[in-house]
Amino acid sequence: MNVFSESAFDGHEQVVFASDDATGLKTIIAVHNTNLGPSLGGCRMWPYATEQEAIHDVLRLSRGMTYKSALAKLPLGGGKSVIIGDPRTQKTPELFRAMGRAIEQLGGRYIVAEDVGTSPDDMAQIASQTKHVGGINDGKDPARTGDPSPFTAYGVFIGLKEAARFKNGHDDLTGLRVAVQGLGHVGYHLCQMLHNAGAKLIVADLNPASVSNAVTEFGATAVSVDEILSVDADILAPCALGGVINDRSIETFRATIIAGAANNQLEDDRHGDMLREAGILYAPDYVINAGGVVEVHYCRNGKPASETNKHIEGIGATVREIFERAKQQNRSTSFVADRLAEERFGPRQHAA
Ligand code: NAD
Repeated sequence: MNVFSESAFDGHEQVVFASDDATGLKTIIAVHNTNLGPSLGGCRMWPYATEQEAIHDVLRLSRGMTYKSALAKLPLGGGKSVIIGDPRTQKTPELFRAMGRAIEQLGGRYIVAEDVGTSPDDMAQIASQTKHVGGINDGKDPARTGDPSPFTAYGVFIGLKEAARFKNGHDDLTGLRVAVQGLGHVGYHLCQMLHNAGAKLIVADLNPASVSNAVTEFGATAVSVDEILSVDADILAPCALGGVINDRSIETFRATIIAGAANNQLEDDRHGDMLREAGILYAPDYVINAGGVVEVHYCRNGKPASETNKHIEGIGATVREIFERAKQQNRSTSFVADRLAEERFGPRQHAA
């Protein structure tokens, strides 16, 4: 089993392996970088086939949170945790209370939030053992449902408009054709905002009910999931899966802007360069999908949702800076985003 030599290790400050025999808890908590503040990141519960797979996932995701929070200008570092287990069959309140105790032992260096396989109820169990939990909704602010997706969608909308402004000289979306892949929690909210802004929607989802709702509610044009990436549109918004920008798809894109919520849209770093060479403006995914983590931070600090939205609007200036630097330096926007994040979170600090 490799940890230090894992490709995603990248100078992690701390990686903790914890277990609890009584509840069957097996968890890895990774703290990548705390230069800007305590690390924050979701707790993923997944039936990893091997321990190495769990290690790789937690390190990769934790590092990603350092970059995301730095570019979102949050006083937070990057961390993540994974629980090895099947969320459909192996969840118990006791398991999450044991997880809460493991987090408490890190003394606030790691703040946990929901992720794939964990729910608000699980966070409530964790919160009974530690205060280092983000995104618990106290129900006092009607603009808040406990679901960060509308905030994520708002950030994507801001980033997409900024991309349109950079490409077209203005950010009026009226009449622009936007292809949205995936009408889930984020994609559907994004469609609502784009529709309100006058865009013409082209949509696809594996779930026919979501597609027919978007057709009825927003006058969207439905296409198949095989067609959506290459449809004739001005902007493509991937809001479903990672890896959609790859050797095969780049040749078929007709949109000249890509701005969506999906994590890890580039299959490989070099696809950022290929987009630039093809004249496609790419708004880096982790820069514009940071609205959810901003909301977790504001909610945790008892700030109203209106303040979350104000902060999210700052994504516009950040993505503009990335576009401008990328143009000046003749580099891909994804490369420039990573370097800008590194400038912000700074060099690794040595342990005392
Ligand atoms: P979700 O599961 O609610 O929605 C995903 C949707 O994509 C589903 O409706 C699914 O049917 C559809 N889909 C799956 N494969 C598809 C395909 N091949 N073609 C078309 N549609 C397909 O997820 P979500 O919360 O809306 O998140 C969407 C993306 O944004 C994910 O990549 C997620 O990691 C990322 N993201 C989400 C948040 C958030 O706040 N929810 C924050 C940051 C990033």
